[in-house]
Amino acid sequence: MRAWESNIRRVTPYTPGEQPNKPGMIKLNTNENPYPPAPGVERALREMDPDRMRLYPDPSASKLVKAIAQDKGLSEEQVFVGVGSDDVLAMCFLTFFNSRKPILFPDITYSFYDVWADVFRIPYETPALDADFNIVVQDYYRENGGVIFPNPNAPTGVECPQEEIEDILRHNPDVIVIVDEAYVDFGAASALPLLKKYDNLIVVQTFSKSRSLAGMRIGFAMAHPTLIRYLNDVKYSFNSYTMNQTALELGVASIQDRSYFDETIQKIVATRERVKIRLRELGFSFRDSKSNFIFVTHESCPAGELFEALRGRDIYVRYFRKPRIDDYLRITVGTDGEMDIFLDFLENYLKHR
Ligand code: PMP
Repeated sequence: MRAWESNIRRVTPYTPGEQPNKPGMIKLNTNENPYPPAPGVERALREMDPDRMRLYPDPSASKLVKAIAQDKGLSEEQVFVGVGSDDVLAMCFLTFFNSRKPILFPDITYSFYDVWADVFRIPYETPALDADFNIVVQDYYRENGGVIFPNPNAPTGVECPQEEIEDILRHNPDVIVIVDEAYVDFGAASALPLLKKYDNLIVVQTFSKSRSLAGMRIGFAMAHPTLIRYLNDVKYSFNSYTMNQTALELGVASIQDRSYFDETIQKIVATRERVKIRLRELGFSFRDSKSNFIFVTHESCPAGELFEALRGRDIYVRYFRKPRIDDYLRITVGTDGEMDIFLDFLENYLKHR
């Protein structure tokens, strides 16, 4: 071993879902939106002046912060933006989880949390979800260095009721509690109203799913102005120009079109509910999903086998080889046409295996 190797920050990185690009494939593996972004986004993109790219973007991203604040009924001092919610969440871990006490998040959850904890050397504990994949609030009453969980949870799609979120907040007044609402727009209740009551709450959302802008990388945090100030201090100590010019313009254009947003959400929710009925008929079971994906297990066919069979037909879903969930598939809700091909394939496969 070379001497310098003992100085390396060693980490096991997060594994993102694969991004194949095959003609005719059906991609239901990374919870992207199957519909294009709002028409105003395309217009804004066409109007971008390449000459502006000589210049650094606005480091405070004020146009986008203002648009988000207006949309959410908040002040600009309550909003922080970043390069996707992954960036925002990483900044939150770095800024707020410094007590040396273990932070808490569920055993089955977004698989980036333990990676950030490891890379920043934050100790953590992972209280188990119950057998139905619900958070057990009492597990969050113990002393800790902070709390984070997605609502709805990923990859289960299960919503944590508002009263339980408030219960966790009530029992944790001395640490920061982060609710990761990457999927909240697809039907769950946001913790946003609780910001008025709890100055230790951070609500994180993203443009990647409900706004069809995963490729643009825009995420944001909403919290008390003091917390936002601390987040900005860390951001400016790291990289002042996180948001590029294009992301700023297109993000604003997206926020401005509320009716397109509502329409797209309605379409995805309608497809999700229809897919649930057919999946049940085919022998799948799942907890009720409030997100743009469904986390399913089959009564007789192992998830690993189905994953490979679907892959053979260029239908991509997500399969986690992990304790407790290795007999489940996470299926992103695509268009009606895509879901019909997916369901027909499953029906046929299950009949003839
Ligand atoms: N939180 C959760 C629970 C997620 O599933 C994802 C998507 N991988 C993210 C955050 C990050 O999304 P983005 O960085 O695209 O905003």
